[in-house]
Amino acid sequence: MTTTTLASTTRLNPVSRTLPVLLALEDDAEDVGRLSPDDRLTCHVHGRWIHQCVASPLHVNPVTRHRWCRSCATALTVSVDELSGAVTMACPRCGHGESTASARLITACRASLAAARAQAATRVA
Ligand SMILES: [Zn+2]
Ligand SMILES: [Zn+2]
Repeated sequence: MTTTTLASTTRLNPVSRTLPVLLALEDDAEDVGRLSPDDRLTCHVHGRWIHQCVASPLHVNPVTRHRWCRSCATALTVSVDELSGAVTMACPRCGHGESTASARLITACRASLAAARAQAATRVA
């Protein structure tokens, strides 16, 4: 087991958990109010890492402005680079569309990508 420093390691320690285990842990933590839905690394709707399904239309929310450009009333396009770990979102019309909600979603995607990659590395080793 390698020691990996993650920018946003939660107390659930995502790297040492498999996806189904972390998903269940995050469900429980969210139910008891210890985890904000915005900070989840897993998606309880799709049963996947958040970076793997964030491109789904289900992750667009005009009310909270998750993946939503208010000026253009358009869903942001997601780009996830599994190799570099880069996650970006931009409005296809104006090229912007940032919001606090989308920024948190990007942070969660980067953390889930890092956790998934660390797990993959552990399995190979
Ligand atoms: Zn999802
Ligand atoms: Zn826009």
